[in-house]
Amino acid sequence: MLTHKTAVITGSTSGIGLAVAQQLASQGANIILNGFGDAAEIEKIRVNLELQNDVKVHYIAADLSQAESARQFIRQVIQLTGQVDILVNNAGIQHTDRIENFPIDRWNQIIALNLSAVFHTTAEALPLMQKQQWGRIINIASAHGLVASEYKSAYVAAKHGVVGLTKVTALENAGDGITCNAICPGWVRTPLVEAQIQALAEKNQTDIETAARQLLAEKQPSLQFVTPQQIGGAAVFLCSEAAEQMTGTTLSLDGGWTAR
Ligand code: NAD
Repeated sequence: MLTHKTAVITGSTSGIGLAVAQQLASQGANIILNGFGDAAEIEKIRVNLELQNDVKVHYIAADLSQAESARQFIRQVIQLTGQVDILVNNAGIQHTDRIENFPIDRWNQIIALNLSAVFHTTAEALPLMQKQQWGRIINIASAHGLVASEYKSAYVAAKHGVVGLTKVTALENAGDGITCNAICPGWVRTPLVEAQIQALAEKNQTDIETAARQLLAEKQPSLQFVTPQQIGGAAVFLCSEAAEQMTGTTLSLDGGWTAR
């Protein structure tokens, strides 16, 4: 159980982050939500999480692609709760294009959010975790943190960077009760992937479900999507005693994608 722990999950108003927040709350952790979206919807998510799990849930709307607001975000959490026990770096965006056509602003945004924000939140959270002699940092990387695909230069570069940063974070804090690991999902059917399914359907002039099957067939041998709840389950495992000596590693939930 994670009773009396505070878990910060970036980008938790949707998709994987929300499922991770739900699973950590179900283990008794107090939750800090973050991300964009409709204010009324987010408030509904916040209240439901509190009521269903009997935990405290706060929402902080920081734009983590800005270095200073990523740093300020963690400082605000510490002011509010006095604790950061679990940090799940999950917020991420995608853009696909050939390198020669890749818009510079999209490159900069992806590196800022998918990689640099992980550095900033981790840097702000570590001193308190070191004082507590307990911390769990979970970086949601990707199968694209381990292998590449064409047209995803910024994303693949950022996610490989996250895997490297995970290892350095683990080494610098080994033996101090702090672990840092990366979860590497394959295809999970969230809004981020729905946009790619839509684009494939338009390109191949097919319906959405045919495009979804094609997307899976290209990469994921199981031919099934990973669920956000399964990623949440992996995060719970990484916070458990069984994972106490697991640090600096990657956990693939990818239906066999990276086994090839
Ligand atoms: P999603 O689009 O459903 O959710 C992304 C979340 O990040 C949302 O809450 C959004 O509001 C938030 N966000 C976006 N920009 C932000 C910013 N500047 N500051 C703060 N929050 C911001 O996407 P998802 O599929 O749930 O992705 C979550 C993570 O999982 C990402 O890092 C993604 O790269 C990774 N991932 C996803 C898949 C997949 O197949 N869906 C596979 C591997 C890895």
